[in-house]
Amino acid sequence: MNSLVQSAEEKFLRKKFSGYYGTSAVAVRGLEKREFGFGGWEKKIEFRHIAFRNESELRARLVAEAPLYISHSVAYYEFPDARPMPRKNWLGSDLIFDLDTDGSACNHVCGKFTCQKCLDAVKADAIKLIEEFLLPDFGFSKSELAVNFSGSRGYHVHVVSDAIYDLDREARREIADYVSGTGLSFERLFWNEGKKFFGPSPSQGGFGGKFARAFLAKLSDDAFALSIARKLKKPEEREKLRGAIEKGNWDNIGITNREKKLSEKFEEMKLTMAGRIDANVTADTSKLIRMPDSIHGGSGFAAKRLPTPDAIAGFEPMRSAPVFGSAPLRVKATEAVPALNIRDFSFGPFGAGEVRELPEACAIYLLCKKAAVLA
Ligand SMILES: [Zn+2]
Repeated sequence: MNSLVQSAEEKFLRKKFSGYYGTSAVAVRGLEKREFGFGGWEKKIEFRHIAFRNESELRARLVAEAPLYISHSVAYYEFPDARPMPRKNWLGSDLIFDLDTDGSACNHVCGKFTCQKCLDAVKADAIKLIEEFLLPDFGFSKSELAVNFSGSRGYHVHVVSDAIYDLDREARREIADYVSGTGLSFERLFWNEGKKFFGPSPSQGGFGGKFARAFLAKLSDDAFALSIARKLKKPEEREKLRGAIEKGNWDNIGITNREKKLSEKFEEMKLTMAGRIDANVTADTSKLIRMPDSIHGGSGFAAKRLPTPDAIAGFEPMRSAPVFGSAPLRVKATEAVPALNIRDFSFGPFGAGEVRELPEACAIYLLCKKAAVLA
């Protein structure tokens, strides 16, 4: 399976990857307590249960073997290379949120060549997770969050904190369920007591407060306001409603079909992260996840670690994540290549069988995508 049958492309990529690991920093928090996994051309994890005592040992192995994918455990273990799993003696784990584009942002199938629209959408999801959930609802501080690009089409948010270190799978599943809004319903935010109707105030925590704040923000939008009641065309009526909701008063607000309309708005607003995070990853205390700053073998891009959580807003993966540069490399497309923009280079579209001399960053991207061969 391994070295004996390496294709010319795999050999070439491993040589390039080795060069990268020879010159770039590999910093992993709690490195000696992590389990590592390596992958190759066929599988993202071919070998696991690997451990290192320090950074120079890890780097030496990366330079020598140049795996196409490098993952490490979200867990910290006393004996990370022991097997079976229970013998590792689990000590704790980071809390991980894995966000990936599902290709729904672009209304077509962007396939293996992830499009800019989908990358922008998943970036917005990651910002929403951080700013609307992790910071306000869970009270994590920015210094407890480490964000990195996945190297392919998403982001990983690592929470590194004593507060979550020894949470078990069930507790992590509950966190994922809360963020995804699993089991959340309109009836839990609004309720009747006798003839009185109660709802959330904007200063309230959780989804109630999120709804009230989102509702108030949307009231400035004419189409939204008119879809609730015609009379909200008048600014003074809108102000009246705004004032009531700011106090958490949803009763006697003079809107016909109040409950039906509010519950429709609640559905429309999509306040949860449903379908945006992979709950199984968050719940898994022994998951192997892409090593930050390692190269993703499916793109030739780094799983780039962002200096701060705020840096994600200005981060452009197609520009900043490619590892390789502008040296020319000839490749032959083995399938249709769309118009792409990598670093500062625009190329494509061109068809299967066409040969192009491209900057290495672009050519290696196509080789990693298995959409081209060396020519
Ligand atoms: Zn897309």
